[in-house]
Amino acid sequence: MAYNYEVTVPFLLDWFDYNARILPWRENPKPYYVWISEIMLQQTRVEAVKGYFDRFIEALPDVEALAKVDEERLLKLWEGLGYYNRVRNMQKAAIKIMEEYRGEIPADYKKLLDLPGIGTYTAGAVASIAYQIPVPAVDGNVLRVTKRMACSFDDITKDSVKKELWQELYDIMPQDRPGDFNQSLMELGATVCLPNGKPLCDKCPVMHLCKAFKEDKIMQIPVKPVKKERRIEERTILLIEYQDKFTLHKRLERGLLAGLWELPSLDARLRPGETAERLKEMGVELAEITPLGEAKHIFSHVEWHMVGYHVRAGRLDLSRMEEKKFILAGKDEIDEKYSIPNAFSSYIKQIP
Ligand code: SF4
Repeated sequence: MAYNYEVTVPFLLDWFDYNARILPWRENPKPYYVWISEIMLQQTRVEAVKGYFDRFIEALPDVEALAKVDEERLLKLWEGLGYYNRVRNMQKAAIKIMEEYRGEIPADYKKLLDLPGIGTYTAGAVASIAYQIPVPAVDGNVLRVTKRMACSFDDITKDSVKKELWQELYDIMPQDRPGDFNQSLMELGATVCLPNGKPLCDKCPVMHLCKAFKEDKIMQIPVKPVKKERRIEERTILLIEYQDKFTLHKRLERGLLAGLWELPSLDARLRPGETAERLKEMGVELAEITPLGEAKHIFSHVEWHMVGYHVRAGRLDLSRMEEKKFILAGKDEIDEKYSIPNAFSSYIKQIP
């Protein structure tokens, strides 16, 4: 028999009234603020998002500013958050909002879903939190909390399971406080019904209604299939310095880190001598090569295992480099203008 989530509503709302964390986008839940924060929260913890959120809103305070900002600056504001396609889609959505809705984020669940980069979760969050439209917002936290309450062994990665839960929650949404209800589930998942380690059931407002607690099955739920192992790629990262500037390379417009600036790299973990050989082939006359150590970066499907070198070049064949989308940039420009993905941070930090 399906679990009756309706009985949990008053307990969750009451708990939320006294336990919700004070967050900038909660204090002032403008649709634009809710939208930006929800996209950022898909990739980073609340505490880390606060700083990124303040910086972003100060630079781009509204939809119009987001629609008009140049891409380089936009990516720089997103630096550190990863998943750069999300912010590119946000700009596409902002342009559409300017063109079709005169700059007002639509107060309509279906129209929100129609915007680039906005799926059912974000549309539900913006609609319910900013506009009090009674639609659910089902994310990983909500799936974990609800499946534990119901003691359900459904595979939460399946779309059919997410859709079914969406409908169950839609049917019992409190019409007067849909945003708070959605946030109470998210907040419970983030602070009490924790994903890793043991949840804090003795602090939970719905412990008496939680079937997994009663049946002692908490640690077995939620059910997810075992992830495939990540592919390992080995790379040599080059911090090439020439006349007090450093080479950056623009990645292809498709695939991993598409269209972003990066430090040049070679497709293997090479020793200094092998690296020097390859640099010669690239038109780099070597003056000095210094090891910068090893680093690892984990993407969702790939792991980069890297070794890095600081290369002082006596001469560079710039014409060959331009063809291959290389530029020379000063340290200040790297700090302020170009957005370099986190994967390179161990080496960017070592720029002298
Ligand atoms: Fe989660 Fe424990 Fe609360 Fe059940 S009682 S919802 S497992 S925190």
